[in-house]
Amino acid sequence: MTSVLDQIRWDKSEDGLVPAVVQDARTKDVLMLGFMNRAALEKTLREGKVTFWTRSRQRLWTKGETSGNVLKFVALRVNCNDDSLLVLAEPVGATCHTGHPTCYYREADEDACDWRTVTEAQFDPEQVYGKSA
Ligand SMILES: [Zn+2]
Repeated sequence: MTSVLDQIRWDKSEDGLVPAVVQDARTKDVLMLGFMNRAALEKTLREGKVTFWTRSRQRLWTKGETSGNVLKFVALRVNCNDDSLLVLAEPVGATCHTGHPTCYYREADEDACDWRTVTEAQFDPEQVYGKSA
């Protein structure tokens, strides 16, 4: 059986990772950017929860495994060069560990001197992850 997984250019980076943008399937908001290897994408498709490879911890990481704020897999798209992914998902709760609905919750002000927060935090990260997080 053929698989789209065989058509993705995992070989383009030394560590076999491709960037994966996650977009809210309903609102089309961009939620986060992560990296996937083949195992992460297989797990995502198999279990229906978006899973990445974390470079800092060097392991598979299912988004929401600590917070419960998972991203339910909806659809997978690939770019023209087969080297980056767009994952449409249904977020459960806030996506960002800061409590914001998206990781992209800050926007440069008019003169690009500073960032201003453009979304509202939905939870207190200390209550979800503990004070050490
Ligand atoms: Zn974030």
